[in-house]
Amino acid sequence: MSDQKPRVYESDVCIIGAGISSAMVAQKLSELHPGLSIIVTEAGRRIFDFPNRFTYRQHMLDYGENPWPGDWIPGQTGEGIISRTMAVGGQALHWGAACNRFSEEDLRLRSMYGTYVDWPIEWKELESYYCEAERSMGVSGEPSPFPGDRRSEPYPMPPMPLSWDLAQLKTWGEKAGWPFQGIPQAKNTVTGYDGRSMCMRCGTCTICPTGAKYSPDFTFERLLAQKKIQLHDHTLIRRLLLAPGKTTVAAARGVHRANPEETVEYRAKTFIVASGYTWSSHLLLLSAEPRFPNGLANRTGQVGKYMNGHAFISSIVDLNLKVYPDMNPEFGLISRQFFRCPPTAKLYVRHDLRIWSSNPRVPLRLKNDQGRALFGDDMADDWRQRITPGTARVRAYYDVHPAQNSELTLDPSHKNEWGDPLPKIGHRFDADTEARLSATKQHVLDVFAKMARSDQGKILSTFYGSYLDHPAGGCRMGTDPTTSVCDSYGRTHDHENLFVVGAPTLPTAGCTNGTLTFVAVSLRSADEIARSLPRSGT
Ligand SMILES: Cc1cc2nc3c(=O)[nH]c(=O)nc-3n(C[C@H](O)[C@H](O)[C@H](O)COP(=O)(O)OP(=O)(O)OC[C@H]3O[C@@H](n4cnc5c(N)ncnc54)[C@H](O)[C@@H]3O)c2cc1C
Ligand code: SF4
Repeated sequence: MSDQKPRVYESDVCIIGAGISSAMVAQKLSELHPGLSIIVTEAGRRIFDFPNRFTYRQHMLDYGENPWPGDWIPGQTGEGIISRTMAVGGQALHWGAACNRFSEEDLRLRSMYGTYVDWPIEWKELESYYCEAERSMGVSGEPSPFPGDRRSEPYPMPPMPLSWDLAQLKTWGEKAGWPFQGIPQAKNTVTGYDGRSMCMRCGTCTICPTGAKYSPDFTFERLLAQKKIQLHDHTLIRRLLLAPGKTTVAAARGVHRANPEETVEYRAKTFIVASGYTWSSHLLLLSAEPRFPNGLANRTGQVGKYMNGHAFISSIVDLNLKVYPDMNPEFGLISRQFFRCPPTAKLYVRHDLRIWSSNPRVPLRLKNDQGRALFGDDMADDWRQRITPGTARVRAYYDVHPAQNSELTLDPSHKNEWGDPLPKIGHRFDADTEARLSATKQHVLDVFAKMARSDQGKILSTFYGSYLDHPAGGCRMGTDPTTSVCDSYGRTHDHENLFVVGAPTLPTAGCTNGTLTFVAVSLRSADEIARSLPRSGT
């Protein structure tokens, strides 16, 4: 880092990273503590140009372009990373907004099944934060029929209507004996929820031109307009610095990318690392200093360990159904039938089960195979014939547990343009997961086969995920500092005023989309952070 005197900024709270967890924490702290000074630093840029979204969307459809221009930082990447997005809003600029909850079983693996660990949070409490997370983002959905999925509040919005295809596919899925419902999503099904439009079911959710899908850039724009936060984008934090002679963090030091010669330093009472599953551990490891030679919050060597996510298998199934793909193709069905496994079962296996209409994007054509010109009804008949039989895509995210050495390390052979080693992630399973892996996969394949048989359908292809989805971990929460980095609120065991929030704190990634859970635990952290702050004016 440059030897020049840094440019210094001071605030009560400094949040590092501007993804979805950060947005939720910033918003909640500003509500709980009006007048609190909050600076959010974000390595990437802000893309606050809502009116251009139609254009970006069109470029994506026409030329396959990234719909979020410049949402990444050249050279800032690493082995094992599945999304390079670094911008205000983070990966949730692109997200599909599927908001499934975990189930109590995820939090009680050791006590119910004798495997891996229990989370240090009670289900009842997490459930109340799920409700808050759903309200904050605006989730539409239909309650699950399973008693274990009981909700203490209704969904904030009614469910997305099922398209013709999904209605057919629901009937098909249920023939195998398992209930299916539309996936809950952070998409408006009513006009005006949180000031945003209603979903038009156009199906390009990686960039939503109407704003019906929640993404954190909306929250940051609003907090800025209300002068509740300062947002320093283009600002990559490279080190956290301890106060002399103390274990509290005194400053976060980094670089403004537009002015790389100048060092910037943020001094605050409380620091919140909200940098996602990769960069949170990375920053703590980079912040090694003589008293913490292995990195901050890493006295017992747990930072970067127990990196997790869920594995998955998907298949394309040929069906005797009349389906007409392309109506809202990103919306699908879920069955929570396999979220629970009897503790006495021979095989521990838990997974979600999803169905989408397969989206082959079969276009209308002007000539048939014999070269005859097609017009009007002939053209439509030709199209109908070519999309029959219908196909469906099915997928299961299944629960796997990390070994301690499922880890993120610093890779000295690859450095970014400021000379910092980049991260390297290698996922590894614990012995119990390895022992049951082939039986778990067989169970999932049997489920898919049973579904196909129920319609005399045929499995056309099967794909085994080569990475873990909704990655999390690296700063595991727990009560024992020898096996965890932070407590259940994300407060690091080693530094009283340093919190890590969201994905990195999760002990396991469950068996369904993780972001709702990242947000729920972040909101819970925000309550504790607010409790730990002196009241304004004191
Ligand atoms: C295409 C796609 C579809 C998805 N669909 C779904 C879905 O349907 N449902 C679901 O649950 N999840 C989905 N996800 C996953 C979801 O988007 C992520 O889990 C979630 O956005 C993670 O949020 P986060 O706050 O943990 O981290 P991030 O979004 O990664 O935010 C962290 C931010 O911190 C910044 N940062 C990092 N280090 C520093 C530093 N040192 N200094 C300053 N800033 C820093 C980064 O630039 C980044 O903007 C999807 C993801 C993708 C890519
Ligand atoms: S279907 Fe269209 S309007 Fe609805 S959330 Fe997706 S992109 Fe937005």
